[in-house]
Amino acid sequence: MSRFLSVIPVDTARTILLGLARKTAGKTIPLADSLGYVLSADIISDIDIPGFDRSTVDGYAVCAADTIGAGESIPVMLSLSGRVEMGDEPSGSVSPGTCMYIPTGAFLPPGADAVVMVEYSEEMGNDVFISKPVAVGENIVFRGEDFSSQKPALHAGTRISSRGMGVLAACGKSEVPVSEKPLVAIISTGNEIVSVSDVPKAGQIRDVNTYLCAGFVEESGGIPISIGIVRDDRPALEDALFKAVSQADIVLISGGSSKGERDMCADIIAEKGELLVHGIALSPGKPTIIGKIQDKPVIGLPGHPASAYVVLHALVRDLIHTMTGEVSQPVRISGVLTSPVPSAKGREDYIRIMQSDDNITPVFGKSGLTNTLAMSDGLLCIPADTEGYEKETRVFAEIWRNS
Ligand code: AMP
Ligand code: MG
Repeated sequence: MSRFLSVIPVDTARTILLGLARKTAGKTIPLADSLGYVLSADIISDIDIPGFDRSTVDGYAVCAADTIGAGESIPVMLSLSGRVEMGDEPSGSVSPGTCMYIPTGAFLPPGADAVVMVEYSEEMGNDVFISKPVAVGENIVFRGEDFSSQKPALHAGTRISSRGMGVLAACGKSEVPVSEKPLVAIISTGNEIVSVSDVPKAGQIRDVNTYLCAGFVEESGGIPISIGIVRDDRPALEDALFKAVSQADIVLISGGSSKGERDMCADIIAEKGELLVHGIALSPGKPTIIGKIQDKPVIGLPGHPASAYVVLHALVRDLIHTMTGEVSQPVRISGVLTSPVPSAKGREDYIRIMQSDDNITPVFGKSGLTNTLAMSDGLLCIPADTEGYEKETRVFAEIWRNS
């Protein structure tokens, strides 16, 4: 067997990986618990919202034509025909020459077609003096203008945010149809890896990847399951993989993904299932494995946290989204490079970047360092067919997203 990885393009690897995705089941959950889930069906309100024409201001409901020519020096005088109560249907109506007092959010009385703000009016006994003209429709939200009972307010594939929860509430959805979150098992491997609560001895390092992966999985809409730290020991790795596959929909195993003496992940995946990819034209992140065991996707991530993160970003997020049905676009910013960014042709390079105003500054660091993750704002992808960018090129970078 070759000692070198035979790399394939990122797009090919992504197609293979997404081919292993199986959509999760749907379920219905209470609105209060729905944050972060992905809608499995379009949401249509049961009623028009608002259900009646509504004033957006405190003021006087009028016939707009009556206010033509109104000004501070020559106000228009209208007679007050009543007051609309909040939360009730109006008890009267407005006809030319008259008006009704109306609070913000109240039902527009029949006959009125605009509302004059209280600031431009003065009530004196039964008369109201209007000092500013209004156009038809001014200061009114019309029935169904917010959401109609005919068209979806939210689409299937939307991840539910706090804003989405508000819309679902307005639409009367106390129960929400969502996709189950995929369970993602996480294994960290390496004889040198110790738990976060340990103080590493000489030659040891703390387990970063379990938490890096767990946080990423949650941000991407999955549920992380930590299997723990496993030594570079074949039976122990086999046991951990077996446990992971039996508990989860996706398995992430970090470390041991290359072709060194201690790198057993690819062999074990090939023996227990099928090895589909070993090596991707991606930097950092070349020693990445894609395989399947019992029809479940198993991804072998490089041990270096910054490299593992690039693979999570470039591939694993799409896998989780395909399983939940999430439809989302990466959050991109544009800016001008403050220094040149070299890149080898034939591989996708991911450079961590910092953004300030219209500038994008590459953060170059050795791949073993985790500090670049903390100080960066996102990633700049240099496509495989591009040999880097000159200084002052305008580029688009993807910024870290915390959802
Ligand atoms: P490997 O891919 O196993 O050759 O590991 C590459 C580098 O990543 C080594 O320096 C490892 O010590 C480091 N590494 C592997 N796993 C982890 C982890 N879970 N947390 C932090 N660093 C790790
Ligand atoms: Mg290792």
